[in-house]
Amino acid sequence: MTARKKAFSGIQPTGKVHLGNLLGAIQNWVALQDAYDCTFCIVDWHAMTVDYDANELRSKVRDCAIALLASGVDPSRCTLFVQSEVPEHTELAWYLMTCAPVSRLELQAQYKDKSAQHADNLNAGLLTYPVLQAADILAHRADVVPVGEDQKQHLELARELARKFNLRFGQVFPEPETLLTPAKRIVGTDGKAKMSKSKDNTLDILATPDELWQRLRSAVTDEQRLRRADPGRPEVCNVFAWHQMLTDAPQVASVESGCRTAQIGCMDCKKILHQSLLRLLDPIRERAQALYAEPEKVDAILREGAAKARRSAKATLALAREKCGFGPAA
Ligand code: SF4
Repeated sequence: MTARKKAFSGIQPTGKVHLGNLLGAIQNWVALQDAYDCTFCIVDWHAMTVDYDANELRSKVRDCAIALLASGVDPSRCTLFVQSEVPEHTELAWYLMTCAPVSRLELQAQYKDKSAQHADNLNAGLLTYPVLQAADILAHRADVVPVGEDQKQHLELARELARKFNLRFGQVFPEPETLLTPAKRIVGTDGKAKMSKSKDNTLDILATPDELWQRLRSAVTDEQRLRRADPGRPEVCNVFAWHQMLTDAPQVASVESGCRTAQIGCMDCKKILHQSLLRLLDPIRERAQALYAEPEKVDAILREGAAKARRSAKATLALAREKCGFGPAA
């Protein structure tokens, strides 16, 4: 039997997991578990590049783990672990840092964005975190990395660093391939920006039905539809975009014609969407509640995942160290 290819992906524990995370990444992770040898990492070190509350980080990591497990990430079919439990990632990041031109890092689009956003805390971690991201991937010698369009640049850097290291010290790393996630740009409740905790425009997947409704009620729709009797334009309305992802096709068609002919109002439309959302999220919320009642079980899953990830990273680092000239002479 041929070994399955290795896939690696990470998620930051920056806040409550939202619909954009679920539809844009996690559902894809769940599907990948059938075809790849998957390693999924909660990248808590990455959360350090901006100001954060150290007292809250552990609970955010556990919240993130619970949301992943409740959404279908299955520890019997993948490795799920927390980055800071595997210090080999930072050791490898240092080796790779010596292969990464500063000018190349300064060109990263996310560095430009983040340095503008956090001008008062322009730390070296903001510049070098794509190198740590490369180390996360390469420490497990991943063959493929599922990424959205906005992460392609970072994966290209990981490929370059693997190539440079191999040329400079000897072959250790495969160049990881991009596994482009079916493009899903999930726009937030403001109807403008990508759904993101920092924009406060999210629909959190573990929110109660009432909390979800409160967020939906105020979600921006077609801004030119001012009165109930005005025909709407579903093609410019974000609520309709969510329907297309969450509601069954005949009902989407009926929403579309009802909107164009003003036979339904935006509140009716949002009520239908609320039902679609609950169909998706009720089972996830129920599984999450069961996991919150057994935190020791979640901790054990993460501990076992970290032990497995450490074995994988240690094997890579033994090779890398030897190639770089560290350790006792043979
Ligand atoms: S009816 Fe629905 S699709 Fe049409 S504008 Fe209102 S919220 Fe958007």
